[in-house]
Amino acid sequence: MFSELLLDEPLFNALEFLGFEEMTEVQAAAIPQALAGKDLIVNAKTGSGKTLAYVLPMLQQILDNPQSVTQALILAPTRELCRQINKQCSLLAQYTEIKTAIIIGGVDPKHQLKALQTYPDIIVATPGRLLEHVKRDVIDLDAINILVLDEADRMLDMGFSDEVIRIASLCNTECQTVLYSASFNENKFKDLTDIVLFDAIKILIDSARENNQNITQQKMPADNDEHKLDICFHLLNKEEQHINYNKAIVFANKKETVNRISGWLQSKNIMSAVLHSDVDQDKRNNMLRKFRNNDIDIIVATDVASRGLDINDLDLIINFNVPHNGEDYMHRIGRTGRMFDTGSSITLVSAQEWNRMIGIENFLQVECAELKIKSLAAKFKGPENRKTSGKAYGKKRKKTKSLKKEKNKIKKRLRDKKNIGKRRKPADANKGLGSD
Ligand code: ADP
Ligand code: MG
Repeated sequence: MFSELLLDEPLFNALEFLGFEEMTEVQAAAIPQALAGKDLIVNAKTGSGKTLAYVLPMLQQILDNPQSVTQALILAPTRELCRQINKQCSLLAQYTEIKTAIIIGGVDPKHQLKALQTYPDIIVATPGRLLEHVKRDVIDLDAINILVLDEADRMLDMGFSDEVIRIASLCNTECQTVLYSASFNENKFKDLTDIVLFDAIKILIDSARENNQNITQQKMPADNDEHKLDICFHLLNKEEQHINYNKAIVFANKKETVNRISGWLQSKNIMSAVLHSDVDQDKRNNMLRKFRNNDIDIIVATDVASRGLDINDLDLIINFNVPHNGEDYMHRIGRTGRMFDTGSSITLVSAQEWNRMIGIENFLQVECAELKIKSLAAKFKGPENRKTSGKAYGKKRKKTKSLKKEKNKIKKRLRDKKNIGKRRKPADANKGLGSD
């Protein structure tokens, strides 16, 4: 129960406003440690209330030690997620004087500068844009004594490792740092954790391989992209009732595929919005708002929407492409089945993607049942000969390997020939040039 925590009245009032009484497992484990000022690495499944697990103690710490400068920073990988976290901060802080500001790309920096001049207590930011402000000297991180890295592994996978380390190094030396994700693989990011964390406590509620039991996971073999488009249309067409859903996200691996799916659905009179990094930020915000408010019920997106987003009544995830790895798969399907809700996911699997899908199932120790709809059945029924892992035998693999070798050999010979005209200058000649 939240009432067991030593919190100030305004925070209890906000929890009451939100209707939250019981702490979730991750909240019960992490909040007391965070209040004690410990560095943390926290792994807990999608939709288990991780945001509140770091925002609530942060607010209490600020109430205990109010300052006239910004003292808490939350970093997250996408703009949409930052907006969502900022909203949750504002809701929980609504009966306090605590102010928050958001620093993300795709928005005119002038507005953000204005917000910074009011010295918000908390900043929610994407690493890139925050560092731009730091470089321009309009923001000073020296007083930051709480740093949260939400979806930490994603930020690092996106290549933000240096930025994150730089930001952490600019924060106060006493800074408490906490890392949150549903899939933080400590070994993979040991370099970072060694630098940014001090004597961290690990809170492992669910490992990355733990399955979210609220989600029914299925797969459907598909022949090619055209067949997949057809399947999408029939699954999403509410009149056909192959599956019942309120709101859905269709994930594809590439922006072009996202555009193609949305265009195809539109040609079939099914309206959807697209979300990927080439879409103008105002449009992105607008679409997500509409999706949250039930004005549109389908979003087609890349993995930019796969992390952290928490949307009511979103109960169907379609993977148009098999994601690149098990972690991305888990986060994509984790947009549904959040907290006490249930949802389902359907992954469309072509022959080329079969082994990757089996790899994901084995990694997550889950077997996705095959969704069979007669009218949408593929000619491809999965590989005829399977290994015990379920994967298809890789006949072609050896061939391509030997082909590659062959190619390399040829290349080498060509280069050898070309090199004739590119001989280096003798060592003496170089010396002569250098002394000029
Ligand atoms: P995660 O970050 O673990 O994926 P979120 O922090 O986005 O999950 O929370 C998922 C949902 O659960 C949100 O809608 C949030 O408001 C709600 N929630 C969080 N804590 C509680 C709680 N103690 N009781 C009920 N609902 C909660
Ligand atoms: Mg989250």
